[in-house]
This record gives sequence, C-alpha cells and structure tokens, in this order.
Amino acid sequence: MSGYAEVFRRGRGRHRRRRRIPLKTVAVLSALVTCSAFAVTRMEDDPLDCAPGRGADGRPARLPVECRGANAALRAGAPAGKAPGRAGGEGGDGVPHDGDGGRPGRAPAQPEAEGGYDRERCGNTSGRLLLSLDDWAYSDPERSVRIGAQLQAQGVRAAFFLIGKFAAQYPNITATLRQQGHWVGNHSFTHKQLTALDDQELHDEIRSGVGGNLLRPPYGDAGERERDVAADLGYRICNWTIDTHDWEKGDGPGGLRSAEAVRASVRDASQEEKHNGVILGHLFSNFPAALNDIIADLHAQGYQLCRNTGPVTENVPHPLPC
Ligand SMILES: [Zn+2]
Repeated sequence: MSGYAEVFRRGRGRHRRRRRIPLKTVAVLSALVTCSAFAVTRMEDDPLDCAPGRGADGRPARLPVECRGANAALRAGAPAGKAPGRAGGEGGDGVPHDGDGGRPGRAPAQPEAEGGYDRERCGNTSGRLLLSLDDWAYSDPERSVRIGAQLQAQGVRAAFFLIGKFAAQYPNITATLRQQGHWVGNHSFTHKQLTALDDQELHDEIRSGVGGNLLRPPYGDAGERERDVAADLGYRICNWTIDTHDWEKGDGPGGLRSAEAVRASVRDASQEEKHNGVILGHLFSNFPAALNDIIADLHAQGYQLCRNTGPVTENVPHPLPC
C-alpha cells in the first residue's frame, strides 16, 4: 500500500513541477513560430516527412537534421506524464496484470504547446475517438487478432500497444493487426516504469520494443527525459483521455472489473474526454468483451470512432488520420 502511495505521490509531485513551462521553452517556441512558418506548414502538409526510418540493422535511424527541429517542437513544453497507476503486479496466473491505469493528474485539457501535439490525445484532432488496447493477451495471444478482425469488420481502426518481449515472440500478430488496419505501437520491451530506469535501461526498453513511431509508456508515466529519449529514437508519446480501469480487481471474469463496469467508464466520461479522445483498455481484461457495447453507446451519444481505411505501416502520421 505504501509502495503505491509513494509512487503516486512522487508522480504527482513530479507532474506539478513539470507543468511549468520554462522560459527557454517559450523562447524556443517563439522562435519556431516566428521564424519557421515554412517548416510548420511543411509539417502539416507532409506529416510523414520526418517519419523515422530504420537503419540497416533494423533499429530506428537517426532523423535528418531538419527533422530534429520538428521533434524539438514536440519536446518543447510537453505536458508532463500523469501519475502512474500502480507498480505492476502479478496476477494469479503469474503474468503481469498491471494495466496502465491512474487517472490523469489533471483534467484532459486543450492541446498544449508541444508543437501542437497533445500527448493525452495522441495527436488526435479528428473529433473521433481512438480505441487503444495495451499489453498482451497472456493466456491467448491470438485473441489480439480476433479483436482486430472484429473491429475491422465494424470499420473501426484501433491502436494496439504491445509489450515488446511478447510481440517479438509472435511477429505475425503485429503484422496481422497492421494488415487489418490497426496501428501497433511500442509499449516498452518488458513493461517497466520508464521513469524508474537509468538512462541506458530507458534507452534499451524503448529501442527493443515494437518498431514504429508511437510510444505508450507503461502507466503513462513519462517526463522530459523519457520524452527526449523517445524522440531521439523516433517515437512520440501517445497516452489517453479515458481510462476504463479495466485492469482493476472487480466482480467480472478473471477477478477484474466486469465488462459492464468497463463500458460505463466510457459511457459516463465527459464530452471533453471523448472529443478527440483516446480510450485505454487492455488485451487481458474484460475490455475486449465490452467493445461492442462501448461502440454502440458512443454512436448513440453522437460520437464516431477512428475509421478503418485499410492496412497501415508502422509509422503513424500526425495528425492521426482517424
Ligand atoms: Zn501497459
């Protein structure tokens, strides 16, 4: 208990400090705005221009110099990571049932100065909602692609943030999900809390994870150092606005929150959380069983989900083509 409280307290304290935008950041942003109108326009016109590639060894390649400025804009003034939910635990089946929970340390707000990128919304400016499914379906890995097929059949594109060490054992799952039209992102290699790692471990956890350009840090916990290392490796941080708390204990199957409770978390979320929103759920929980009802509820409330327009590559454009 005290461990969780300590992590939470530290997270919030760190969060508050990071909320202050340093003068240097303001200066950098001013310079970008006043001197780089051309560059900004170019980014908007061609969001893939600075997409990171892969080196000969299959690792993320260093970006061209002109793209470093774009990523610097992403770094500058980034909103802080939210308080971590809790340190990962072990379920009765010996696999981590940790979730990425934890309410945002602040109410999801307007996009902040991060080169126009709002990490809590994963850069979603479409008005639609993005479903995201994290971690791994431990007892039934193929569950992921069945969920993917179900969503594809409904014309919905989701984002899957897979734990790298499992995804590496089942490369067909990542490939199939992308073929189904879903984005697959990096969720670290072993689901460690990135802010607790030393520099080398942090680098390795990201670099060894799923390739691409979206990183969802475990527990959503990332500060300036984590954001900068991720950016150097070609990733931008993608968190969420609606946490379904599906990873918490409850009276549903598996001793977790029931599908009905998970459904209600989304249904009852605020308009601000839903517009351009990102929904956090997990592959091992009762979230997948709630998906049909979640989608139906959102439609009934007048919301749409990101549209599935067919197969995708590992790099996800910004703004999100929802
Ligand atoms: Zn996770």
